[in-house]
Amino acid sequence: MDKKPSIYNLTLPELETWFSARGEPAYRAAQALHWLYQKRNDRFQEMSDLSEKLRTELGLEFTLEPLRCVRTNGSRDTTQKFLFALRDNSFIESVLIPASPALYGSSSDRKTICISTQVGCAYGCKFCASGLEGWTRNLEPGEIVEQVLRVEALSGEKINNIVFMGMGEPLANYENLLRAIEVIRAPWGVGIGARHITVSTSGLAPRIRDLADQPLQIRLAVSLHGATDEVRRQIMPINRRFNVATLIDACAYYCEKKGQRITFEYILIEQVNDQLDQAIELAKLARRLDAKVNLIPYNAVQGLSWKRPSRARQQAFLRALRTSAVDATIRTEKGHDIDAACGQLRLQTMRDKNFAGSGNLR
Ligand code: SAH
Ligand code: SF4
Repeated sequence: MDKKPSIYNLTLPELETWFSARGEPAYRAAQALHWLYQKRNDRFQEMSDLSEKLRTELGLEFTLEPLRCVRTNGSRDTTQKFLFALRDNSFIESVLIPASPALYGSSSDRKTICISTQVGCAYGCKFCASGLEGWTRNLEPGEIVEQVLRVEALSGEKINNIVFMGMGEPLANYENLLRAIEVIRAPWGVGIGARHITVSTSGLAPRIRDLADQPLQIRLAVSLHGATDEVRRQIMPINRRFNVATLIDACAYYCEKKGQRITFEYILIEQVNDQLDQAIELAKLARRLDAKVNLIPYNAVQGLSWKRPSRARQQAFLRALRTSAVDATIRTEKGHDIDAACGQLRLQTMRDKNFAGSGNLR
């Protein structure tokens, strides 16, 4: 593994410092970043407005080796899924989602990417493929940013909406998440505004408060999945640390500080959380915060026995919320057929013995 740090970890001021330390004017940093983010060049040697010496020094200090795409799934007009091998050969996945009215900030010209923030996940939600194999490590900021660049290069699409809903718990990799968002937002970086970025969390209440204190208008989605402690703690171990009341208080703080509405994610799992009395409890929480509710029919995960409720049950749950004056939708199904729920392609690949060494698609 190349031990050099990725240049995609760096912000403009840091790169300016790097050039200044070499007696170069600060604007060299903007020149280098222009090659990376505007021209999408991934070779230092091709940065023709930098001297040969500087290009060599950059190459000695930083890596520009792109994430290797080892598997793809889907097609141009449905959800496309990308499995990437990182430089230490662990796997993460990113999903490109075409416009869908049920998605965050979505309109007809939206191209959304769902990105990962960790290899695996430590939170062990009982329904989730990402949690099944445990947590390996946090992604570096550059590895988060690169998912956007690589998916754009591989798909030929221009991404304009980002959801942190891939593998891992973004708020458990807080510092790297914030740094990645800085690079993604910056005009010298990827240039996607905060209002087009949604962070999803399983409910790290203190971190939700920290995020509220940041001067950033990013959107927040909270994976609630249970409206009472009894139901939520059965499927989400994190509820033992931060119960529903603590979580909702933190969400209220976020809404108040940001002047924003948040979204509750609610996976519908048969006979676990899809009963109408749960819809009534969920409606109370959503009304208190004026939160939107996004219902997600459960996606079957290999090796887990949870079931998706029938369409009739899904619709009854939705009706109960709407009757209680809650702004609720059922997420339209994109990618169910290609295992688009978080962590599933990776899980499938790691379990597929025939996959090892089958090459990359780059
Ligand atoms: N860790 C964060 C972000 C990643 S998960 C979080 O939990 O919010 C992104 C979303 O996918 C979450 O709402 C998660 O609950 C949901 N999800 C996980 N497994 C799923 C499955 N099998 N079917 C449908 N949604 C799933
Ligand atoms: Fe982790 Fe989110 Fe999956 Fe829970 S739902 S195990 S927090 S990735």
